[in-house]
Amino acid sequence: MQKMDPEMLLMVLDTLGKLEKDKLPLDTKLDLDHTANFPMDLIRFMVGPEVGLHLIFVPEEYGGMGAGAEDIAILSEKMAKMDMAVATSFLAICLGMDPILVGATPAQKQKYLTKIAEEGMIVAYCVTEPEAGSNVQSLKTKAERILDSEGQIVAYKINGEKQFITNGRVADLYTVLADTPEGPSFFIVEAGTPGLIPGKHEDKHGIRASDTSPVTLQDLCVPAENLVGGVEGQGLKQANQVFGYTRLMVAAFGLGAGMAALERAVAYGKDRIQFGTRLVDKQGYTHKLLVPHIVELEAARAYIEKVAQRLDSNEEDLQVEGAVAKYFATEAGDAAANDGIQAFGGYGYMREYEVEKIKRDVKITTIYEGTSEILQNVISMFRMRESVRTKGRYYLDMADKLAGLPTDTGAHWVAASLRVLADAIQVARELKLTKSQHVMFLLSDIMTWGEVAAALCHKAAGHQGGKKWSAEFMKAAARVFARDTVELAARNASKILRGCDPVAPNAERILAQLPTAEYQTGLMKDLDLVTAELVR
Ligand SMILES: Cc1cc2nc3c(=O)[nH]c(=O)nc-3n(C[C@H](O)[C@H](O)[C@H](O)COP(=O)(O)OP(=O)(O)OC[C@H]3O[C@@H](n4cnc5c(N)ncnc54)[C@H](O)[C@@H]3O)c2cc1C
Repeated sequence: MQKMDPEMLLMVLDTLGKLEKDKLPLDTKLDLDHTANFPMDLIRFMVGPEVGLHLIFVPEEYGGMGAGAEDIAILSEKMAKMDMAVATSFLAICLGMDPILVGATPAQKQKYLTKIAEEGMIVAYCVTEPEAGSNVQSLKTKAERILDSEGQIVAYKINGEKQFITNGRVADLYTVLADTPEGPSFFIVEAGTPGLIPGKHEDKHGIRASDTSPVTLQDLCVPAENLVGGVEGQGLKQANQVFGYTRLMVAAFGLGAGMAALERAVAYGKDRIQFGTRLVDKQGYTHKLLVPHIVELEAARAYIEKVAQRLDSNEEDLQVEGAVAKYFATEAGDAAANDGIQAFGGYGYMREYEVEKIKRDVKITTIYEGTSEILQNVISMFRMRESVRTKGRYYLDMADKLAGLPTDTGAHWVAASLRVLADAIQVARELKLTKSQHVMFLLSDIMTWGEVAAALCHKAAGHQGGKKWSAEFMKAAARVFARDTVELAARNASKILRGCDPVAPNAERILAQLPTAEYQTGLMKDLDLVTAELVR
């Protein structure tokens, strides 16, 4: 299992904390955002010998820190809380290195991973194109073989246009996806190679200080030894292989940015007096603008932790889990930041209070590394396949496990939702409703909420109370989220079973499995309990 020494992890977290205080105070952040200037000195310092943050992505054998997925999730949350533009630059370094990590030959790994580690290289990942965004397979960039007199491939000539490349103008090293005669393949290209031409710095809605630009590839000549893995046509496989990992990292960004907004809103609500009392003493403020978000963000955290642990124990094929984590956590972070502005009233609309910047910044997490809609496609399609493969047992087994947990976590309500989901999947297949993308998206939401709720119930059942939240808080949060999951399952399953043509003949029987009135008992008490700990 790959894992950092816990003391080392604490040290890195501490270094990040100090770095934010010394080099990235609020004024600097706001100024970088306003001027859209890439903080080159700061990023160079962060990959320099004093901090060496990029080393978390490099295995120990190549001079890195060999961090595991759980370590990276914790550090990603911290980076996103600090500043999403800076975090994005590091995401690109990680992404850019990934094709080398998963697909390179031992010699390529030795050469480039060691170089990245030692020299603190900034890396860029060049995949997206003007005509190939979500649909990477439609890439137009071509890599033409250059042969020697004996017909051996000695190099490739690459031509094409890459779009929205993070670190595009500042990277030392680029990994470029291009179509070879045998299919899409990654190439390693050093900055300054003739024919690699970064374009203009994009003027963006958020993460304005991160460097984003098009990159033109014009008769770019790359030696054959820089074809990642030495075999053509492996690029898409290599890109897919790391999704479990990289999407989890973006999920942690959503969590971090959402928490940053929420923590500011809580602090503000404790200070601000209106109508003679603090804002946090008003239920209409706490139960509407704060509690739903802490519940969703803690649910996201529970799921991220679980997937990270599975990745760290070398489980493979966790791409769907990565998609669930990213879809849920980034949408939760975006919603929390949006209400963060509302919680500050007019001040939230002003730049100097930072929450509006966080809201603009966090939006990117629902777009890059797979948009929310692409993730919904992935989740529904692969979970549907898994349900067929297991003859419907996939969600029923998950429900059975939940049924064994104490009911004060709300696990039995989530179990009921998953049973309805299993039936809805079966009906959708029988009635051929799966041809409708809207039906698939409705299913993807029940799948996502159900799986995330299951993770939160399991966490709450084992939570003894920690530095941050008590055991009672975790159970109350799990119950609140379990109720939301029941409601979502009822709404979406009803749309599928009753709202399509043909109407499912067994709709009423299926929906009757959901708890009806009794699951709301105690809701107010739970909301009050969560509030009390959140604003104490
Ligand atoms: C700031 C920023 C930094 C980035 N950094 C990088 C980087 O470093 N490297 C890199 O390679 N790329 C990068 N990207 C690109 C990013 O990954 C793409 O923008 C993203 O994948 C979406 O592609 P697109 O913009 O072409 O949108 P499209 O694919 O055109 O999507 C437009 C809309 O249609 C929806 N849609 C698309 N297909 C479907 C479908 N099948 N079903 C339903 N809805 C669909 C999408 O969800 C979206 O809402 C970056 C983008 C930004 C904005």
